[in-house]
Amino acid sequence: MTAPTLRPRPTPGLGSSAIGAEEEALVLDVLRRKEPFRYYGGDFKPTPPMVAQLEKEFREYIGTDYALGVSSGTGALEVALAAMGIGPGDEVILTAWSWIACFTAIVRSGARPVLAEIDETLNMPPSEIARLATPRTRAVMIVHFQGVAADMEPIEHEAHRRGIYVLEDCAQSLGTRYRGRQIGTWSDVATFSFQFNKVATCGEGGMVVTRDQRIYERAVRTSDLGNYRPYHAGIVPPREPPMVGGQYRLSELAGAMALAQLRKVDRMRDHCRALQARILPRIQGLPGLALRRVPDPAGDFGFEIYLFLHDAAQVAAFRAKLDARNVNCGARTGTYPQYNRDYLQSPAMTAHPALSPFRDMKPWPPVGYRAEDFPRTEDLTKRFLALPIGWLYTAADADHIADSIIAVHREVCG
Ligand SMILES: *Cc1c(COP(=O)(O)O)cnc(C)c1O
Repeated sequence: MTAPTLRPRPTPGLGSSAIGAEEEALVLDVLRRKEPFRYYGGDFKPTPPMVAQLEKEFREYIGTDYALGVSSGTGALEVALAAMGIGPGDEVILTAWSWIACFTAIVRSGARPVLAEIDETLNMPPSEIARLATPRTRAVMIVHFQGVAADMEPIEHEAHRRGIYVLEDCAQSLGTRYRGRQIGTWSDVATFSFQFNKVATCGEGGMVVTRDQRIYERAVRTSDLGNYRPYHAGIVPPREPPMVGGQYRLSELAGAMALAQLRKVDRMRDHCRALQARILPRIQGLPGLALRRVPDPAGDFGFEIYLFLHDAAQVAAFRAKLDARNVNCGARTGTYPQYNRDYLQSPAMTAHPALSPFRDMKPWPPVGYRAEDFPRTEDLTKRFLALPIGWLYTAADADHIADSIIAVHREVCG
């Protein structure tokens, strides 16, 4: 008897796997016009088109009023926090289970990040706002983890009735909807990323969106050395006092590529949802295996399937067996809890110790920054397995994933 031949491992990735003629055409157009800077060309003629067009299509796609292209998703968070006027003495609530940049952007603003638990959605439950809010809380940062929207209606209600801003970090989840609306419309300000691993990519890039004119103007000024150019004055007349800013501008080359990618997001979403729909009904209800809870399944992007198993040892065994069948899967998918990160080993974690919002907190680590303060996050993040669905995956790949989960479940959980 010969061993059965394995299905080849499918190529993961969304936007990165969808790069093609459309990106090439728009980027070449920028090169041929010799206008790689967004605000003027060599002869200082009016605004080159790509970033401006990206912002226009982005705000129409999201269904919001203002969009500002910036140099990265991290930059977008720093710009958004500055635009809200968040700084020293303020607190911002975010989930302990979130990307590095979510925490570091708050620290760099001068505010103190306050860590929340996740629930079976792998996002922040609304009840964490009531548990963690203090008179110093200025904002809650909601991280829509890997294509599933947080439960935004109660979150927005809980925050706004306390006078707390809501910031949605949509870096991982462009194109995800909740109750019929895109994420990024459930908050005072929202941020996106076009880094290589994200739904749509231009290598490095980001976006800030808002419906608030004051936040928009302050975001523009923060992103462009305090400038407020005629281009922006034509969108929202200037009303804010001059301020200093950083330099977080998006180039025309990156903007051109992001524009081509944005136009593919809905096709990627439909593709992922169709493949996920082949898999989920077959694995739902397998004993000892639970799926990630999705607050609004109709809005789910569907690019990653999360299985909760009994414990970390079972996850390791399950993962090894899936891997042996050439099924792509991972345990922590690049994220791990903030309280385990290097920078939380000392309260003087900023470039200069006096800039740290933790500088006076002793002993270290204080309550709220230790693994034992997050029993739910510890439990949930040690016993899940994540299976990506990529743009180049086929229906046969999806069927192989479902077949493999069922077979491995029988061996590991049976
Ligand atoms: C990737 C990511 C960011 C940062 O985006 P970059 O473009 O890499 O700077 C911020 N928040 C979350 C949740 C992310 O996944």
